[in-house]
Amino acid sequence: MVNEERIRKVFTELAAYDSESFGEKRIGEDIARRLRKLGLEVTTDGTNPVYLEAHPDSHPNIHAVLKGNESGEPLLFSAHLDTVSPGIGKRAVTDADGTIRPAGNTVLGADDISGIVSILEALTVIRESGARHPDIEVLITAAEEPFCEGSRNFDFSRIRARKAYVLDLTGPIGTAALAAPTILSFTVEIRGKAAHAGFAPEKGINALAIAAQTITEIRTGHVGEDSTVNIGTITGGTANNVVPENVRLTGEIRSLNHGEALRRMEEIFRKFDVNTRKAGGIAFCRQDEHIRAYRVEHDAPAVRSFQKACNAEGLESRLVSTLGGSDANRLNEAGIPAIVTACGMENVHSTEEYTRVSDLRKSAELTIRLMTIKEDEEND
Ligand SMILES: [Zn+2]
Repeated sequence: MVNEERIRKVFTELAAYDSESFGEKRIGEDIARRLRKLGLEVTTDGTNPVYLEAHPDSHPNIHAVLKGNESGEPLLFSAHLDTVSPGIGKRAVTDADGTIRPAGNTVLGADDISGIVSILEALTVIRESGARHPDIEVLITAAEEPFCEGSRNFDFSRIRARKAYVLDLTGPIGTAALAAPTILSFTVEIRGKAAHAGFAPEKGINALAIAAQTITEIRTGHVGEDSTVNIGTITGGTANNVVPENVRLTGEIRSLNHGEALRRMEEIFRKFDVNTRKAGGIAFCRQDEHIRAYRVEHDAPAVRSFQKACNAEGLESRLVSTLGGSDANRLNEAGIPAIVTACGMENVHSTEEYTRVSDLRKSAELTIRLMTIKEDEEND
């Protein structure tokens, strides 16, 4: 039986760790220990010593396997270790009504401790009850918040499951995201020419004016049903009496359609290039692909099992798309169909973040159902 008091206790213990991205060492060690105690074979991903050397307080990705006690397709459940800032010194308190919120001016870390707790509680109950289940794989990644940096170098060939659930979404339990975007970030450096603003402004090439002009020609915000564009920062110029020679701006594009993200990027770069050259300057444009879009079809096995499990739990299943990235992007890119499921986190990435004990319980119950659902139950 799922135990609300145990859930609350484990949540509170895990939330007490400082575990901002690249600082997950202690929470990672704790979770690896808990998984071993539950009978899973735990390995950590030590394939990238450069990463671990650069971030000495980080923890490698954790991959754990619970051997099945009956045959069936292996399943994967995933969550992430890190939290966003402000997350140093955080502590969870539970109100009388079962709401869990941060004690101070920090995030709560329900993103993604809710996911971890759901998986741990489900494994605990399965072990206690002796329920039948296939091989269950668990992937707990590090540094997910900075564009899934931790899983970037994970060797996904270690994963046998072809059905994956990433517990890392807001919304009522029963919500799942079947599609998520490509996220590109970009940098444009415009090089004009400096000149004295009073004596010879005509000898200068004003990089700031080029940038301003071009920005007005670029659509931002929701630029299509499934795409957004943002210019987030701009810096440049040196003094009031100098025609600005250099301007640097950065931004991002998100789209559920990878090709559309690339096309929009190209169009933006072309505008900067044309306008800068017209004025006699040079534009240097660079893009970084952080994660790649995916779409899992409604009739995919992972989705059918999810809907079945929701029905069995009396939960309404809501299938949505999201413009946020997660490790499901990496899994899908590696050929492992993965959907992101709601696990009890609200107002994430803010100091107003909270969860509810009742949602954590529902999430654990749904996770147990997913872990134990029979193949033939899926096909009827
Ligand atoms: Zn998250």
